[in-house]
Amino acid sequence: AKQNGRDNAKFFQPHMAKEVTSHFQKEQEVQKALDCDQFYLVFQPQIDTRSGAVFGFEALIRWQHPEKGLIGPMDFVPLAEESNLICRIGEWVLEKTLQTQVNWLESGITATPIAVNISGRHFISEGFLAFITDLLKRYEVPGNLIKIEITEGVFIHDMALCIEIMAGLKALGVEISVDDFGTGYSSLHYLKRLPLDTLKIDKSFVCEIGDQAEGDKICEAVVQLAQNLELNVIAEGVETSQQAEVLNQLGCYLHQGYYYDRPLSETAARVILKAQQSH
Ligand code: C2E
Ligand code: CA
Ligand code: CA
Ligand code: CA
Repeated sequence: AKQNGRDNAKFFQPHMAKEVTSHFQKEQEVQKALDCDQFYLVFQPQIDTRSGAVFGFEALIRWQHPEKGLIGPMDFVPLAEESNLICRIGEWVLEKTLQTQVNWLESGITATPIAVNISGRHFISEGFLAFITDLLKRYEVPGNLIKIEITEGVFIHDMALCIEIMAGLKALGVEISVDDFGTGYSSLHYLKRLPLDTLKIDKSFVCEIGDQAEGDKICEAVVQLAQNLELNVIAEGVETSQQAEVLNQLGCYLHQGYYYDRPLSETAARVILKAQQSH
């Protein structure tokens, strides 16, 4: 038994070897997906309920795997975030988003911003700001056509660096939203100091509206916080008319969720904009 104990501590067990291999293989598969153009973006409309108009979209990544079929981001983004792979993915998403904007502008659509999700690791990485600067120049697209969504976790790493990068983005006209707001390290301290534009209420709070009083209370608190700090506030994951109504009553008029639209193909998103803008 003692022998086994020592072996267990010292040596790789077969199941561990398998885990490591599959982890490595998965990373290689993600890299291959980038090289072979297996990713694509879908676009979920964001609605201003005061006018009913779509005022923007969120770009969400999808993986069309040649054998496994459609894979959602929860099944590869966390793995990619363990290495610089997430930076390659982020760069791909940014470039694809700007290509989409060029397509839309060329087809006569009025400028409508698209928000992209950027991992904290990528956001504070060297070259991030230079990459966006170059990209905007290369595609000749104004910075206010993209927005960056980042989660709160990134702020605790290096406040000064975050402020510097955000100031650089601001100078380009790129707005910044705090994604999944309320689920991370909320601190009034950083909220006041950072040049933010929007708080995005996480869907875990929105989905508790109505059936749990706390859901309403948390949404109300976030809306009030945003108002006090003069930030925009948008609710994600709005699925029912009741949730929409409560949010409107709280003063949160920017909504995103299945109640309005699922994430759409580039073409379907463009059709919505065309129809809206021909009125
Ligand atoms: P997120 O940024 O919080 O995105 C919102 C997620 O909620 C999306 O899931 C969206 O499809 C889903 N959703 C939208 N409306 C509703 C609704 O009414 N009800 C419910 N239950 N869900 C709704 P998705 O596309 O599977 O993305 C999951 C997460 O993966 C995202 O959460 C984001 O953290 C990450 N992700 C997605 N695309 C990218 C990307 O391009 N880059 C990075 N770094 N992360 C991404
Ligand atoms: Ca997001
Ligand atoms: Ca969320
Ligand atoms: Ca998220």
